[in-house]
Amino acid sequence: MGDIVKVTGMVLSSMPVGDHDKRLVILTKERGKLAAFARGARRPNSPLLAAATPFVFGSFQLYEGRSSYTLQSAELRSYFTELARAQPEIYYGFYFLELADYYGQENADESGMLNLLYLTLKALLDPRIEDRLIRRVFELRTLVIQGEYPQVRACVSCGETEGLRAFSWRKQGMLCGGCAPLETDAVGLDASAVYAMQYIVCAPLQKLYSFTVKQEVQAQLDRVVGRLMEQALDRKIKSREMLDAMTG
Ligand SMILES: [Zn+2]
Repeated sequence: MGDIVKVTGMVLSSMPVGDHDKRLVILTKERGKLAAFARGARRPNSPLLAAATPFVFGSFQLYEGRSSYTLQSAELRSYFTELARAQPEIYYGFYFLELADYYGQENADESGMLNLLYLTLKALLDPRIEDRLIRRVFELRTLVIQGEYPQVRACVSCGETEGLRAFSWRKQGMLCGGCAPLETDAVGLDASAVYAMQYIVCAPLQKLYSFTVKQEVQAQLDRVVGRLMEQALDRKIKSREMLDAMTG
């Protein structure tokens, strides 16, 4: 006999298996990323129907077998159902789930990613926050959680903390006005783009989505964070390509 375990998490993906079942990938606080079978979840009257859906957040009761988990029941706290009807927000949402899946590890502490995902989906449903900004905040903060982020507090060449005005991907960080001309891949950044990146890296999670940026600053964030992600990812992310194609 296996054990029943209770975990808090979010469903990242749901794939049909056989005639009536689904295979879920759930990002959990207690056991990291895990796969669980939801037996009968494709039957219209299944009690597992709602839980076997991407984006749902709550607590899940799982039966732990020798080689896999089976979903027994769930108490859902958020469904994010409005997201399914929001365009293009739903495409952003699927990309965020796939990125969380890409980085998710079994039996690791994934509470940081889980909290970031939850707040980010909430932000997507808030019309006051631009989707493009949400994307770059989520990407850069994901790199922070994964420990792969650039130096944003000081010049990577000389350590100066004032007058930062460029970014180098090769050096993975900010450059001051004196060092920027020496790096061939440096791109200039407005002071507010520098500040935005510092904020995204350092702000408390709950305050992450409390700022806005001007168009030119957004363009700089798109360029810098977009290429950082390309460097960080070692395989193609399907939903990312779809989003890029849609948002140009
Ligand atoms: Zn410098």
